[in-house]
Amino acid sequence: MKQILPGSTIGIFGSGQLGRMFAIEARKMGYSVHTYSHGSDTPTGQVADFETCSEYADLDAVRAFAQSVDVVTFEFENVPSATVEAAAEFTGVHPKGEILYMTQNRLREKNFLVANGFPVTPFRHVKILDDLKNGAMEIGFPCILKTAGFGYDGKGQSKIKSAEDLADAFSGLNGADGVLESFVEFEKEVSVVCARGQNGNFVHYGVTENEHASHILDVSFAPAIVTERIFNEAVEIALSLAETLEYVGTLCVEFFVTKDEKLLINELAPRPHNSGHLTFDACVTSQFEQQVRAVCGLPLGSTEFHKPAAMVNLLGDLWQKGEPDWAAALAMPEVKLHLYGKTDPRPGRKMGHITALDDTIENAIDSVKEARRLL
Ligand code: AMP
Repeated sequence: MKQILPGSTIGIFGSGQLGRMFAIEARKMGYSVHTYSHGSDTPTGQVADFETCSEYADLDAVRAFAQSVDVVTFEFENVPSATVEAAAEFTGVHPKGEILYMTQNRLREKNFLVANGFPVTPFRHVKILDDLKNGAMEIGFPCILKTAGFGYDGKGQSKIKSAEDLADAFSGLNGADGVLESFVEFEKEVSVVCARGQNGNFVHYGVTENEHASHILDVSFAPAIVTERIFNEAVEIALSLAETLEYVGTLCVEFFVTKDEKLLINELAPRPHNSGHLTFDACVTSQFEQQVRAVCGLPLGSTEFHKPAAMVNLLGDLWQKGEPDWAAALAMPEVKLHLYGKTDPRPGRKMGHITALDDTIENAIDSVKEARRLL
């Protein structure tokens, strides 16, 4: 195992807020950070040492980038496989390219999960309208059709309530492959953010509870309000997944908890995750620092929480009536503000988040919601 020590340069594909928080942690530890994406003046680029602005398909630029860094990771999973393979000719890439390839397509991911005995929602592969019709008959209504690739935050998804919705939902795929899932009447959504090091060490942040609004994560808090059995099973699944994948880096496993207290995996994120943002302020070692440590072959840090914590996302909608009143929220001393350096506050765009720590989870949730209300 080669250790990449402070003073070295970490390359990162992608340049959003996840890369930004990764870069903050890496630079704190004395690393240089080089971000690669097609954007410029990006959330990551603003805090990185170097910013390459090139297309992922420009493999000459990718190779030059890979030769200029000591190790490569990524902050979002839709980096093309060819790009990662080109980088891997010159330097280590963590998590490995096969994992990225598997997780960037819902169908490949679900097939992998089923083949390895992990619990998922019933699903069908949809290529033609008849697949959808037959699948809906088998799975039943309501169900949900998602594009197999390149979807996030509910993009490319449609809920199908009855046979009348089938044709419209199918045309929404625009010729892409789809995955039809049964609609889960869940009790709640939870996630396990965890990390696995190159020596096989595993750490986790327990179970985080997540509330979505319009398919976008709205509120996360930890510890989740779940039974001990659900807690243990969720962590056990995350560990087993990390080991099966020989994973290196930070991983998030998103689950539905069904009304009859069963866990179903919704999806995997092979990187730090929005539901782990609260670890930045609430834990001894954040999910981003774990990613730095794991990809550099260093020991992982303590995941201990200082206090229960809650986080709310700040979407572009908040800016519609002008600049939010930051001072009002910051007047609450338990509140921590994170803004991602984005200049265009479009509705639905993740612009930042707020975290609050408190002695009880209920108080932390109340505080963070109140802070957002005051904005
Ligand atoms: P996804 O992009 O698949 O993570 O979906 C975003 C959100 O949509 C999830 O966090 C759920 O709140 C909701 N959702 C997705 N798939 C399902 C499903 N099969 N049943 C119920 N809700 C779902």
